[in-house]
Amino acid sequence: MRLVLFNDYRLGVLRGEDVIDVTSALPNHDPGLGASFFVRLCQDFEALRPQLEQAAANGKAVPLAGVKLRPAALNPSKVLAAASNYGAHVDEMRPRLRDQWLLNFGVFLKSPSAIIGPGDTLPLVDIENEVHHEAELAFIVGKQGKNIPEERAMEYVLGYTGLIDVSVRGEADRSYRKSFDGFCPIGPCLVTADEFPDPHNIDIKLWVNDDLRQDGNSKDMLVQIPQMIAFASQAMTLYPGDVFTTGTPDGVGPIAPGDTLTLEVQEIGRMQIFVKQA
Ligand code: MN
Repeated sequence: MRLVLFNDYRLGVLRGEDVIDVTSALPNHDPGLGASFFVRLCQDFEALRPQLEQAAANGKAVPLAGVKLRPAALNPSKVLAAASNYGAHVDEMRPRLRDQWLLNFGVFLKSPSAIIGPGDTLPLVDIENEVHHEAELAFIVGKQGKNIPEERAMEYVLGYTGLIDVSVRGEADRSYRKSFDGFCPIGPCLVTADEFPDPHNIDIKLWVNDDLRQDGNSKDMLVQIPQMIAFASQAMTLYPGDVFTTGTPDGVGPIAPGDTLTLEVQEIGRMQIFVKQA
């Protein structure tokens, strides 16, 4: 299924250029800050699937162009992120970094409060350092797990979405540099794993205005999804609804007020983010 959140955090299923409202198929719907319905949906998706499919078959279609899309994930306990996971990106960062350990694969956290959605404004704070776009494929966790073995790891993936890991460059801790408000655009939709092709062969593109800055493919990940799930879950329990972004290909670069960022992830689609002075 291709799921979206829209308007007042209603749940929709995408069909072509239409959205079908399937909110009525949820046992509860509590939109707003702290809403847990999305996390429960992630946890209970397989049990809810028949009623979601029925609602999608019978529901009224409204044009996608007529709704306000929301982030494709809501209230995760954490946003995990793979660092230095594409060789060409590691190479482009090497001359910029004093701390060369940052070029090693690792997992860091971005604040969930940085999440925004398709068509939203990114309020860029006036700081001296460059702020860069990082176009990424992300996945959403569907099942709680700790010490997950690589060979079972894909069972924990509910589905996939697009994510821009917006990042201040410089010397501060990653969690600070990557957690400013608006620094975690997610969307435009969540494609469940059963309808998603090989996640390790997905085109990832990002334009700043009309300039194609990033044009990569997830086949170039240095550490693949099962290994990153095993690595992260050694340290921390993964919970349903958690977002895990898988690293960026090369081509990162600065963004500025007035820019429009367009992320296109194969099979997931396009979203645009508007950068404004905060
Ligand atoms: Mn990144």
